[in-house]
Amino acid sequence: MSFKPANEIQDLQYFGEFGGVNPSISDSSTYTFLSAKTMFDTFEGNADGCYLYSRHSSPSNLYLGEALAAMEGTETATVTASGMGAITAVMMQLCAAGDHIVSSRTIYGGTYAFLKNFTPKFRVNTSFVDITKIDLVEAAITKNTKILYCESVSNPLLEVADIKALSKLAKKHNLTLVVDNTFSPLSISAAKLGADIVIHSLTKFINGSSDTVGGVICGSQELINNLRNVNDGTCMLLGATMDSLRAASILKNLRTLHIRIKQHSYNATFLANKFKADGLKTVYPGLESHTSHNTFKAMMNTDYGFGGMLTIDVGSLDKANALMELMQERNLGYLAVSLGFYKTLFSAPGSSTSSEIPEEEQKEMGLSDGLIRFSIGLDNDIERTYETMRDCMIELGILKPQHQA
Ligand code: PLP
Repeated sequence: MSFKPANEIQDLQYFGEFGGVNPSISDSSTYTFLSAKTMFDTFEGNADGCYLYSRHSSPSNLYLGEALAAMEGTETATVTASGMGAITAVMMQLCAAGDHIVSSRTIYGGTYAFLKNFTPKFRVNTSFVDITKIDLVEAAITKNTKILYCESVSNPLLEVADIKALSKLAKKHNLTLVVDNTFSPLSISAAKLGADIVIHSLTKFINGSSDTVGGVICGSQELINNLRNVNDGTCMLLGATMDSLRAASILKNLRTLHIRIKQHSYNATFLANKFKADGLKTVYPGLESHTSHNTFKAMMNTDYGFGGMLTIDVGSLDKANALMELMQERNLGYLAVSLGFYKTLFSAPGSSTSSEIPEEEQKEMGLSDGLIRFSIGLDNDIERTYETMRDCMIELGILKPQHQA
């Protein structure tokens, strides 16, 4: 029987303190103790079930963390104020001065900037590699390497990491494999495939409402305890804490993730096939022409499809900008960064979400000026969406009229 992570969410049973079908929201930053000794024990980490202060943990954050751990199949999880709050906390927790990271070179621009410009200040350096070439990944490992880092489906090029192969490599060299699964929740269960730590920006598909930022770190109880340690835990000390009210609202949105992901995948598959047939340079992991189509297929939980992200290359930034402006005018979506919304979102990553990556390096990794990244929305009538998109492309000379059906 195939693993269906949404079933794990379905099986959760949380009640509010008055029998509410939603857990009560803990609207407090601090907690009382009946005895001073219990307060001391809680500081020491020896009083299970006691809350101290909401930067450390809160019931609402724990509920959301447990639901996400169930989805990813990890022992536990902790939520953070943003995806970057999760990524930076993990890196800073696992590395000390002199340590080294091997990372995929195609990752979210903020993560790239953190590893390239920020961690070197603490003498933690990163080698950026083509994550699809396992021999190159292995060649980059040094005696100081601690972390192997990748996105299961990369932002923005949609490269697919072979998590099983990377996990084998990580074990061989005693590294921690950290996978950012933001682009492929439910479709790929990275921990089941061997990732030690799975991170999400909850800002995207998981929350799905573009009304908050949020993040999560899924892993072992030992890791999460370390992150929360009052003496040297990055989640506790760097302070990227999610607010309880927000945790409660993300938990409610999480319950429809499986339905949304199926629709995102259905719509993205429909458009990717049409765009490809029209002769557009289209990248979507669900297309057989995708270089890692088989890798994705071998890893995926088939119910949820190949996800909602696709890219097309229209040749130049000017054309990309004109197309995005026109599509927005025709109400096909929004010219906006981020992903996972009910509306389609589109942006040109070279000049937005990946602008932290120097132009030279963008070229080397195949990130061209005319690339448009789409997060395909939940449109009920995707055929009409396609026809209107095609009309926009014909109007701008990106497609020739004879391509019309
Ligand atoms: N990881 C990926 C793949 C992303 O696309 C992003 C944001 O765009 C992040 C992490 C960072 O998440 P956040 O914006 O929630 O800090």
